[in-house]
Amino acid sequence: MSEISCTAHTCAYNSDSYCTLNAVHVCGQKAKKSCDTSCESFYMRTSAGTNASIPQMHMPSSNSIECSAEKCLYNDSGHCKAVNVDINGVGADCSARTECGTFVKK
Ligand code: SF4
Repeated sequence: MSEISCTAHTCAYNSDSYCTLNAVHVCGQKAKKSCDTSCESFYMRTSAGTNASIPQMHMPSSNSIECSAEKCLYNDSGHCKAVNVDINGVGADCSARTECGTFVKK
């Protein structure tokens, strides 16, 4: 389990720069560096600032991360073992504009 800090404030799951999802999916099967990864769980916030389809979220104490970036040092059989993970995505309007800043190549 990890704690995810995230700069994608345009994501509906972002609260005060932390991710409120219990389970997050990061992809980057062939990733060799951070910019090759992305947060597939990104969900664009509506212009009103809330998404009616998303139930009220509560901050989890930690996040479970499934990750396909198998060349990352922290990847253990598809699960992230990093204690703290930073997702970058200032101004992101889709998941492709996000990346895992904690990626370290094995
Ligand atoms: S630190 Fe590595 S294993 Fe963890 S989410 Fe980021 S890319 Fe995936």
